[in-house]
Amino acid sequence: MTEYPFFGHIIDNEEVESLDGKRFDTINPWTREKWAEVAEASAADAERAIASARKAFDEGPWPRMGRTERATLIHRLADLMEEHADELARLDSTDMAKPFAQAKHDVARSVWNFRFFADHQRDHVGEVMPMDSGHHTYTEYGPAGVVAAISPWNFPLMMASWKIAPAIAWGNTCIIKPAEDTPASVVMLGRLAIEAGFPPGVLNVLNGFGVPAGSSLTGDPRVDRVTFTGESGTGRIIMTAAAQNLTPVSLELGGKGANIVFEDADIDNAVHWAVEAIFRNAGQVCLAGSRLFVQAGIYEEFLARFKEAAENLVIGEPFAADTQFSCLASEEHYLKVKSYVDTVEEQGGKILTGGLAEDGSWLVRPTIITDLPLTATQYCQEIFGPVVVVNTFETEAEVVHLANDTAYGLNAMLFTENLSRAHRVSSNLKAGTVWVNCFFIRDLRTPFGGVGDSGVGREGGNFSREFFTEPKAVVMQIDRQVRA
Ligand code: NAD
Repeated sequence: MTEYPFFGHIIDNEEVESLDGKRFDTINPWTREKWAEVAEASAADAERAIASARKAFDEGPWPRMGRTERATLIHRLADLMEEHADELARLDSTDMAKPFAQAKHDVARSVWNFRFFADHQRDHVGEVMPMDSGHHTYTEYGPAGVVAAISPWNFPLMMASWKIAPAIAWGNTCIIKPAEDTPASVVMLGRLAIEAGFPPGVLNVLNGFGVPAGSSLTGDPRVDRVTFTGESGTGRIIMTAAAQNLTPVSLELGGKGANIVFEDADIDNAVHWAVEAIFRNAGQVCLAGSRLFVQAGIYEEFLARFKEAAENLVIGEPFAADTQFSCLASEEHYLKVKSYVDTVEEQGGKILTGGLAEDGSWLVRPTIITDLPLTATQYCQEIFGPVVVVNTFETEAEVVHLANDTAYGLNAMLFTENLSRAHRVSSNLKAGTVWVNCFFIRDLRTPFGGVGDSGVGREGGNFSREFFTEPKAVVMQIDRQVRA
């Protein structure tokens, strides 16, 4: 009998089976074969994880520890992640067919999430304000308690670390529920946290499905914060569950990003980023530039060059050194993307290049659609695959209207060499992030999140601090002669 690698829950600094011994298979999407087994949580396992995190918060050293000591431990975890970077990347590439070079990049960004928030909590401790009434008032940012973090499969380690890092840095204890398709790198992160010397219960990993593993966390009154990244529909369910206990939620949800290319753009640069924006990670990116708007005067030229660049991407198995693009992360997801590609022509559009591989694999080639009515599902809904709909426009006002005419509002990109236009259009776009002449670059001090169906709240820098702490105002009398 084949022995498969096993990934358990991490509860109280031990890697354990589920109480009922249940496991599920995790599949390598490139080979379409099972490659590992994972503990499958029931509500009873969630109960164990919550009890562990609760006890660690109420009685353990973590929330009471000096900020420098906590930062040192988090940096030690980051050091271990760097030492094991290849292994962490290999787990993500195996679990979801992410090209290995991209998975390595994700590990580096994950390490940076930990290092950034370790230092941020140490250095951004609060503000003191002298008052005219003869008092001083200051803000204190104390940890909120137990954080339930629920993450998606498209950037398994990076999305999980984006939630875990600020949560624990600010002195909370955390339970992470990774996506069921891609749990391996997050379990390994839990193992490394034990090795780094984290106290028991600070970082618990609970594996399993949305229901019951995730839902057992979001509706529990012992959980003080819920941070979620995933689909907008799931976000609605989670917000409803958390509302029963008035638990604050942070929701990072889907997107349908507009990518606008003006006639005065640097076309080489715009083509480069348009390709990255929709074909990186096979388009399985919330920030994907899935609606591309090209100004009429350069439409034909841009489209020809964009098509050529898309066709030049090296498609292959995730671990080959030159692979830039691989298959989709699961059969279920492939079938979803396929249903959009299959119906392009019946909805009135044309596939300029790409389409399904039709070889039994879960590969959808870099796909460019034109001539699609603006009411078509491919234009309106998040496909979350390597499929872009291209449209043309005449005026700035017209394209701003088109870009904003969506239920989502996560991000937008624009390409222009006109400085005034860059500022004006950025300001008028309905989006949490706007990239001008670039894409995907982030400074972790800035807010990250979305408008409308793309989310609730912002994370990053002080925005994460506001969410993961209970800010308190303390007012001190300084001058006894002055009474308010
Ligand atoms: P998903 O909503 O299906 O699942 C996300 C997580 O939620 C998984 O861990 C899943 O098990 C869990 N879950 C499902 N049902 C649940 C429930 N009832 N209660 C608690 N947990 C539950 O999303 P996905 O398919 O894994 O991820 C893709 C989606 O994520 C896309 O819509 C994408 O745009 C979005 N996303 C957003 C961002 C962002 O920052 N805004 C980043 C990455 C991905």
